[in-house]
Amino acid sequence: MADFPTTARVVIIGGGVVGVSSLYHLAKAGWSDCVLLEKNELTAGSTWHAAGNVPTFSTSWSLMNMQRYSTELYRGLGEAVDYPMNYHVTGSIRLAHSQERMQEFQRAKGMGLYQGMEIDILSPDEIKAKYPFIETHDLKGALYDPADGDIDPAQLTQALAKGARDLGATILRFTPATGVSRENGEWIVHTEKGDIRCEYVVNAAGYYAQRVGEWFKPYGGRTVPMMVMSHQYMVFEEVPEIKKWSEGYGKKLPLLRDVDTSYYLRQEKNGFNLGPYERNCRAHWATPSDPMPDDFSFQLYPDDLDRLEYYIEDAMARVPLLAEAGVARVINGPIPYAPDGNPLIGPMPGVPNAFEACVFTFGIAQGGGAGKVLAEWITEGQTEWDMWSCDPRRFTDYTDHDYCVERGMEIYGHEYAMHFPWHRWPAGKDRKHSPLDAKIKELGGQMGAYNGWERANWFAKPGDDLSEESTQTWNRTGPWAERIREECEAVRDGVGVLDLPGFSRYTLRNDGAAEWLRGLISGGLPKVGRMNLAYFPDKRGRILTEMSIIRHDEELFTLITAGSAQWHDFEYLKANLPEDSGIELTDDTVGTGTLIVTGPKTRALLEPITEDADLHEGWLSRQTAKVAGKHVLLLRVSFAGELGWEIHADDEDLPAIYDALLAGGAKPFGMWALNSLRLEKGYRAWKGDLSTDYSLLEGGLDRFIKFDKPQDFPGKAALLAEKQQGSKKRFVTLVVDAGEADAPYMSTLWHDGTIVGETTSGGWGYRVNASIALGMLRADLAVPGTEIEVEIYGERCRAVVQEDQPLWDANNERIRA
Ligand SMILES: Cc1cc2nc3c(=O)[nH]c(=O)nc-3n(C[C@H](O)[C@H](O)[C@H](O)COP(=O)(O)OP(=O)(O)OC[C@H]3O[C@@H](n4cnc5c(N)ncnc54)[C@H](O)[C@@H]3O)c2cc1C
Repeated sequence: MADFPTTARVVIIGGGVVGVSSLYHLAKAGWSDCVLLEKNELTAGSTWHAAGNVPTFSTSWSLMNMQRYSTELYRGLGEAVDYPMNYHVTGSIRLAHSQERMQEFQRAKGMGLYQGMEIDILSPDEIKAKYPFIETHDLKGALYDPADGDIDPAQLTQALAKGARDLGATILRFTPATGVSRENGEWIVHTEKGDIRCEYVVNAAGYYAQRVGEWFKPYGGRTVPMMVMSHQYMVFEEVPEIKKWSEGYGKKLPLLRDVDTSYYLRQEKNGFNLGPYERNCRAHWATPSDPMPDDFSFQLYPDDLDRLEYYIEDAMARVPLLAEAGVARVINGPIPYAPDGNPLIGPMPGVPNAFEACVFTFGIAQGGGAGKVLAEWITEGQTEWDMWSCDPRRFTDYTDHDYCVERGMEIYGHEYAMHFPWHRWPAGKDRKHSPLDAKIKELGGQMGAYNGWERANWFAKPGDDLSEESTQTWNRTGPWAERIREECEAVRDGVGVLDLPGFSRYTLRNDGAAEWLRGLISGGLPKVGRMNLAYFPDKRGRILTEMSIIRHDEELFTLITAGSAQWHDFEYLKANLPEDSGIELTDDTVGTGTLIVTGPKTRALLEPITEDADLHEGWLSRQTAKVAGKHVLLLRVSFAGELGWEIHADDEDLPAIYDALLAGGAKPFGMWALNSLRLEKGYRAWKGDLSTDYSLLEGGLDRFIKFDKPQDFPGKAALLAEKQQGSKKRFVTLVVDAGEADAPYMSTLWHDGTIVGETTSGGWGYRVNASIALGMLRADLAVPGTEIEVEIYGERCRAVVQEDQPLWDANNERIRA
């Protein structure tokens, strides 16, 4: 073929809305030497049959960012690329049947306002005024999103394609990619028409992403964590009243989402479109007897209306006009799900120069934003917004087929459900266990999953209410509250022990390791025999990650990081390791466990059961020793902010150590108590308080930056410039006059009637008996004593900025005891 491109900078596999948006955004960033391969016609996958709803609503800050950006892009796109298309901005009404749902809406409204949107809360009468055909007697209210609407997905994709082509990018239709290989640091993407050499490859193959992902396994890849659901919507025949109303007002009705029943109902021409997310849902292509076909372009599954009966009846009761129309057609198509329902956008785990932009359940709404994010990943190596919620590295080795199917079905059936902080979804439990798992459960451990590892959140006592209903609240109190208090008090007054399986740990060794680390972190390294906390900034000086660095020898280190950061941090280190340097980096997370033993009586407890250790060695010391006769690494550190040690030991030795600690009087405590304890110390948690949305200086991590060290660590120049100009935001600790609920992540901070910041985490401090929020506040207000307000689920609560020191044990005397 004469004009078949044999080279490109980027090859994108998949011509649905997401692949094409990625191409458009790459071209807009000046990367026009990019090729998109589509095996059939553009939109042949999920995109062609999508209903085209474009909401902005989300309770996730990053998803809201992406969706808001999409609506802004789509509004001007037709004109920008000269490709007119049908985009109806109708607004939407999201119905609330309960007070808890209204609280959820209030929180989303706060986030929306902060992002510049005009989201509003409606009373039942106001709902009726906007939507006269609705029954409102059983509703508490609604959320109104004026930016919501619907777009023609095929036209949207074609418009993005035109924009990309006009900027010089290439789209090859009817050109399936058939495989990839790697040669001299370049990718070769194979097609039936020839090979294309490129620097970067993007898997944007929609529900085929797992198949395409298989090609990357020889180069370090893993099975793409996903499954496929069947999703239906029904288009109804014309309803005269709708036609009359619509013609009379010259607009369409707003879209209705009955999120508590679980469907949307929208005006389609002069009839309706009803799309339920049903509980009795159906996975497709999930068993060997139902294999995924090689080609499903422009195809649908057979209708399956029986599954939807309950929802149709409910919608007819809500909008009785619906009963007057017959169903004109049913669309039942494949929709891919990742195990948490969010898409995969970002670096492909384990594989150099390969990216993913796939597994979208709301690809029409998110496609615009996703293209921007993907293009930033490739062209800049970082994204404007912290996108951890969509980062493929958030899933590690526990997401096998059964897990993906179980979780996908659960999420689909609860697509609009509220995610209460105390509630654990039942699917996909028990993937990875501590050797102490049975013991912890015997002691009453109520478990949660952290990177697939089961850890106790709290310990129940006989008679405690463990029902699912008890967890359906945003409020602080519940059966767990008294137990958390007891656990915190045990840590305050005696000794607590927490089993922490899956704490990510890497070993770094060989000549040059120390110098290499110094070049990546903002601060200094610990001396041999000691440990410290280190921050890894990105090029902008923003907080990429935090690790504990333990120095065993001049060139021998253990790096410890959050459970959920396991692949993210390892990949970051690996990608920066100079080739042929001889420095060795290994992931040793599996096989070693960690026990946090902390409280003022810890030394007294450990003394009789510990050999070969000096328990008076200071804060941040490390030593090897024997506890209960077993070899351990003892680190003098406590995330709970009391005298304490982390005991690191081989898995097989943990039961004996744990038994000895319990026999000595240690009380088991859980992750929720630990969260409360760390808030009182102002210790930051990764991907809440610490994220790439903030620079190290904004994050108040000044004392972890050594500007005068010779190494030119990433972000040094940016941080220096910020130091000279002053940061716009500053990290603060707030004590809040909270009501029944503490501030969740991304609650807005208010001063003089305007939003001046956001919380990054919040909760009750049982040692200080106060509601605490950590957050980012406009720098001029970040002065101790300043009074502001925190909006918690719609309620403005007075809050006071605290001194820049821990609320509990301000001078750190207890940890150094
Ligand atoms: C009934 C239904 C209604 C929906 N309604 C909405 C909605 O209202 N709003 C919303 O936001 N989302 C909706 N969705 C979801 C939405 O359709 C998807 O999230 C979105 O289309 C995904 O786009 P994509 O580009 O990631 O994938 P796709 O559109 O599936 O595109 C992937 C492309 O990759 C191509 N491909 C695969 N393998 C290869 C290969 N080897 N070589 C070359 N090309 C390849 C395929 O042919 C396909 O065109 C709906 C889905 C369904 C099923």
